Amino acid sequence: MFIDLRSDTVTKPSKSMLEAIMDAKVGDDVFREDPTVNKLEKYISKMFGKEQALFFPSGTMANQTALKLHTNPGDQVICDKYAHIYNYESGGASFNSGVSCNLIDGNRGMFTAKQVEEAINPEAYYYSKTSLVAIENTTNKGGGACWSFDEIKKIKTVCDKNKLGLHLDGARLWNALVEKKETPNQYGEIFDTISVCLSKGLGCPVGSLLVGNSEIMKDALRIRKIFGGNMRQVGYLAAAGLFALENNMENLKEDHKKAIEIGAELAKLSIIKTVEPIETNIVVFQLNDDVDENLFMTLLANKNIHIISMGSRKLRMATHLDYTDIMHERLIYELKSL
Ligand SMILES: *Cc1c(COP(=O)(O)O)cnc(C)c1O
Repeated sequence: MFIDLRSDTVTKPSKSMLEAIMDAKVGDDVFREDPTVNKLEKYISKMFGKEQALFFPSGTMANQTALKLHTNPGDQVICDKYAHIYNYESGGASFNSGVSCNLIDGNRGMFTAKQVEEAINPEAYYYSKTSLVAIENTTNKGGGACWSFDEIKKIKTVCDKNKLGLHLDGARLWNALVEKKETPNQYGEIFDTISVCLSKGLGCPVGSLLVGNSEIMKDALRIRKIFGGNMRQVGYLAAAGLFALENNMENLKEDHKKAIEIGAELAKLSIIKTVEPIETNIVVFQLNDDVDENLFMTLLANKNIHIISMGSRKLRMATHLDYTDIMHERLIYELKSL
């Protein structure tokens, strides 16, 4: 039994998802004639109470398009030092949009309205112009932490006062919604743009969307084309998305429960220094200083348990749709006998 906890992106489409894909009605989406893509975009925009949504081949492209829509070259974006848009998008913010990032030294990828206020550049011409604040919920590098919605509202007030855009990298927003019993509409009311992923907890093979009102989304289609993201009969993938939105949301709770149980077991191991708080489907833990990280990972790999390193002796496990109850029992058993 291969237990793959490296990422929640390792899932493969289920039989019923494949059936939904096979049954999809498709057309050429470059002519905006793919009925299933149009249906998915309408579904998501309605869900968030926004006027438009656009389907993307990746979360990175959706985020990068948002950065481009909100900024001009030379501008500055405020985000956390852990932000995906800064760390894991290959320097795209500078490459695609010519912007720099003002990194906030936050807590597990989250920051406060006061920190945003302090990070805004003064008006003087020799500063770069602050134009956007980007939030990530849940935080990836922050170990799946969920934001306080009250703090988000305070940040929105700061953005309004200073005429800054507000973008949400919601690759794992579904996890936060399920865990905190929040609604997409709540987020739609606050953020100018939101990106969401279908290929993480929801178990699709491909796909992300960017939502926003018509004014900010005006050039989204053009930017997606410039980034090389035009797709043709992509309704097959949109069908997977619609299927996942209707069938796989509830399972996220199960992922969270399993992650908490894994964390509890890890905390008992003497070779582990700390297990970070677990709120959703990500477990981040740190080994004792005298434990060799590669040795530990090899030990697990020999038991067919696969996890990833985040550097500086931090390791990560992510639970997901294809991590079954039987795998979970097995993992707990193996951790107990380490
Ligand atoms: C996965 C992820 C993305 C998008 O990644 P892609 O692999 O490009 O789909 C964006 N933001 C966060 C926080 C992520 O975890």
